[in-house]
Amino acid sequence: MSYPIISKREHASPAPPNLRDYDLVHSKFSWDQAREKLAGMGEGKLNIAFEALDRHRGTEIENHVALRFLPKDENAASPQDISYRQLLADSNRFANVLASLGVTRGDRVYCLSGRIPGLYIAALGALKHGCLFTPLFSAFGPEPIRSRMDIGQPSVLVTTSRLYRKKLADWAHELPYLDHVILLDDDPAETPDRRAVKLSALMSSASPDYSTQAMAPEEPALLHFTSGTTGKPKGAIHVHQAVLAHYVTAEFALDLQPRDIYWCTADPGWVTGTSYGIIAPLTHGVTMIVDEADFDAERWYRTLQDQHVSVWYTAPTAIRMLMKYGKEMADRFDLSGLRFLASVGEPLNPEAVKWGMETLGLPFHDNWWQTETGGIMIANFSSMDIKPGSMGKPLPGIEAAIAHRTAEGIEFLQNSDETGELVLKTGWPSMFRGYLNEDERYHKCFIGDWYLTGDLARCDEDGYFWFVGRADDVIKSSGHLIGPFEVESVFMEHPAVAEAGVIGIPDEVSGEAVKAFVALKPGIEATEGLQKELLGLARKRLGPAVAPKTLEFRVALPKTRSGKIMRRLLKARELGLPEGDTSTLEESGK
Ligand code: ATP
Ligand code: MG
Repeated sequence: MSYPIISKREHASPAPPNLRDYDLVHSKFSWDQAREKLAGMGEGKLNIAFEALDRHRGTEIENHVALRFLPKDENAASPQDISYRQLLADSNRFANVLASLGVTRGDRVYCLSGRIPGLYIAALGALKHGCLFTPLFSAFGPEPIRSRMDIGQPSVLVTTSRLYRKKLADWAHELPYLDHVILLDDDPAETPDRRAVKLSALMSSASPDYSTQAMAPEEPALLHFTSGTTGKPKGAIHVHQAVLAHYVTAEFALDLQPRDIYWCTADPGWVTGTSYGIIAPLTHGVTMIVDEADFDAERWYRTLQDQHVSVWYTAPTAIRMLMKYGKEMADRFDLSGLRFLASVGEPLNPEAVKWGMETLGLPFHDNWWQTETGGIMIANFSSMDIKPGSMGKPLPGIEAAIAHRTAEGIEFLQNSDETGELVLKTGWPSMFRGYLNEDERYHKCFIGDWYLTGDLARCDEDGYFWFVGRADDVIKSSGHLIGPFEVESVFMEHPAVAEAGVIGIPDEVSGEAVKAFVALKPGIEATEGLQKELLGLARKRLGPAVAPKTLEFRVALPKTRSGKIMRRLLKARELGLPEGDTSTLEESGK
């Protein structure tokens, strides 16, 4: 099956998009000029939280809802709206609480919490106070929490009593670097830690005014851990001027406009959930939806409907899960408020883009970036034709190319459609400034002016980039370079398939043989007949050199907690090798 181009007219947004002429804006864009879009704090200083909150003071945005919180238990509590004015006052109070505890600029503040308002207030308050902020995913077990704490050695941990008791109580008292544990909730039970303080009491006596710290553009603001898809997670450091990239990329790649109701489904424990789940939407003054609950197909459709979500930023795993439940479920809801859909985190199968068109009347706009890049680098824009399966084109301000590493340095591939490493010219504001405690590893990511992403891709003659695979996942078979994504996407075309993962296993004849793992949709039986049919489909579509020779069914594929298929685990298990770091593995994949 080939996927026809979705012309810009077919998916045009009702309102004119922010980026109307890609070529023109891309050719003229300069980060220095774009700085005008920010308020700034004078003398070249700035602060992420100032751009997100303080700059709206005295404007109409002050009265907008900044955050609409949907509690997990809808029967027990109703949605809670927090205006921009209120969020500013609360984060100011939080910054004052930090000051009253003796926490100073440059100190590290970690937050381990579910998606509740306190997390957002703590993040913004810590940034205001000039602290380095790190969100940790609340579903992590004690081990991954401890290892990330030991890497960053925070002096403050913000969490809840329940999470503290469940995950930290046994060992937190051993951490010599931790000075304060700030508890977000009002649990009456005592927390067995002399450093623990309850936030509510401190907040009620704290002033709602705070003079946000004016930071140098290069001062560290955020420490984010990578997803751990390919190995041990790395701690990427980002600086305050990253906010310029957050703002600009959300303007162009998410098309955020002032009246939008915006829902980013990622948890702030992953970079998407902070860059585009806290910072970017607030800098644009939109209303963001924060859902405390985990994925649930019906709840998600209901949220899109009831909250009138207009811009929705989600991930391929979630889209594949919704596809599993079919169009019938989507048709039960009024989703006419949606105007722009975007996806990130993993390759987006062309079938998913098509499904969006058929089911929601809109395509998903795939975009590509990494924890290291801090913001969206390549995207499908509202004003451009979509080629399903392509990641799109580089953002204004971003120069991307395809290259090989050579003994002398770097060699750029001139011919379109040649596969090589995706590289980015350094100099955008949200680029990471280091891997914490891993200088050598950081420096190895660069050759001259170029950042090497570790992902393989190709660029077609129209300038669209196509993801081939992570350098570690790519399969070399009989002289062919095979990207798992291409093979997996073919299986996704079959109506019985929910998800697919493809790996290479050592083979005497071909070097590596292609093997597929497939999870089926609910109620579909894994038969030998279906196995043959799927292998036949792959052979027909990909040819015998690329199609897998073997296929096994699995109930589910191992995934990171951020929803990425862990091919390295499929491979290690297949070959009986050590599993390596599994700290980010989702329970169901064990
Ligand atoms: P680790 O670096 O710890 O192995 P990770 O690379 O999965 O984990 P992230 O920074 O969260 O950690 O993910 C970035 C990676 O996700 C990219 O390098 C790419 O491989 C993949 N990715 C993100 N978006 C896309 C996309 N739109 N298409 C294809 N791949 C994507
Ligand atoms: Mg990575």
